[in-house]
Amino acid sequence: MDSSLKHPKVNFDSGNTNQKIKMRSTKTKIIETDALIIGAGPVGLFAVFELGLLGIKAHVIDILNKPGGQCAELYPEKPIYDIPGFPMITGQNLCDNLMQQIKPFNPIFHFSELAETLIRTDNGSYEVETNGGLAFNAKIIVIAAGGGSFEPKRPPIKNIEHYEGHSVLYSIGKINDFAGKSIVIVGGGDSALDWTIALQKVAKNITLVHRRDKFTGAVSSVQKVMELRDKNKILFKIGQITEIIENQNKMTGVVFKSEEQKLKIDCDILMPFFGLTMNIGPLIDWGLSIDNKRIAVNTETFETNLPGVFAIGDINIYPGKLKLILSGFHESALMAHAAYKIIFPTDNLVFQYTTSSSSLQKKLGII
Ligand SMILES: Cc1cc2nc3c(=O)[nH]c(=O)nc-3n(C[C@H](O)[C@H](O)[C@H](O)COP(=O)(O)OP(=O)(O)OC[C@H]3O[C@@H](n4cnc5c(N)ncnc54)[C@H](O)[C@@H]3O)c2cc1C
Repeated sequence: MDSSLKHPKVNFDSGNTNQKIKMRSTKTKIIETDALIIGAGPVGLFAVFELGLLGIKAHVIDILNKPGGQCAELYPEKPIYDIPGFPMITGQNLCDNLMQQIKPFNPIFHFSELAETLIRTDNGSYEVETNGGLAFNAKIIVIAAGGGSFEPKRPPIKNIEHYEGHSVLYSIGKINDFAGKSIVIVGGGDSALDWTIALQKVAKNITLVHRRDKFTGAVSSVQKVMELRDKNKILFKIGQITEIIENQNKMTGVVFKSEEQKLKIDCDILMPFFGLTMNIGPLIDWGLSIDNKRIAVNTETFETNLPGVFAIGDINIYPGKLKLILSGFHESALMAHAAYKIIFPTDNLVFQYTTSSSSLQKKLGII
């Protein structure tokens, strides 16, 4: 993935003291952990729980800036009816509950990071590096990457990729970096509205462009944006951006087109918010056995063809696989038991229930 498409970086590191962080000679931080989970979707989150019950600590990476994967990103308000024990629960509530359930295990999250490379070390552990420069050394890797990493959709504007990362942005880092800038924001969903509201406080001027006068974002945000338009704090135009205007390779503005008019809007920054798409991304080159863009696994352990690398949830494939959240939860439990044998090779794992095991209840902080 083009690093310029990266989401804003948000740190949720919880400071788990059982994990060591040391510096590499290259100044890249190496984070050592028992387990590295790639993907903070519902299945990656539940994997933290199953590993935690067996005393296995986890770091979790996700390219998104929040946990929940598809449930939180694609359908947070939609009711799900087939989560065992919940006759109905929304995508977001399920993620919130999972976050609550894994709290006792203090997972360390690294959001807005794309896992890019996987290398096996001489002692059988794995090193994973992210596009943000983080490096992990983990005894086991759990790939819970779902449908793949989310990437912003590019609008159909010729040569737009030449301007990405400086003049064309799909995410915002620090709001103050936009002080005094002329910005064109395109879109009608929550991202376009939220950033219009936030950036108008510091920008020189903001033009919000949407192809119609109906928005899909939250009602309160639509109201706020309309208020800003009525007070002439932003300009709102119905139509499309069709071209980038440049001078000596530098973007100087964009061409706006509607049914009635075609005009040039001078601007420093163009921010298109056209939603997200999913792509298996760098995992495809990790030497994993891939079938139809999904990772083949052994259904006893959910281990891949690479020893100590597991794949659970929507990213895996095996005969009879159902892409359901409940399948991923089941896979997490079997994966954790197999991972235990790698991390504690001389220990005998005794199967226990959370209802009756005081050792499990201690780990959960109940007693
Ligand atoms: C509209 C809709 C409705 C659905 N309804 C239901 C339903 O009713 N019941 C049901 O059981 N299922 C439903 N599903 C399917 C369900 O959402 C998925 O089965 C579930 O989200 C899979 O969870 P996961 O954790 O495996 O993957 P995901 O939820 O896809 O999460 C994977 C995470 O991995 C991250 N990631 C991927 N690659 C990388 C990388 N290289 N580096 C860093 N991060 C990475 C992604 O950003 C993502 O956050 C629905 C799906 C959709 C789209």
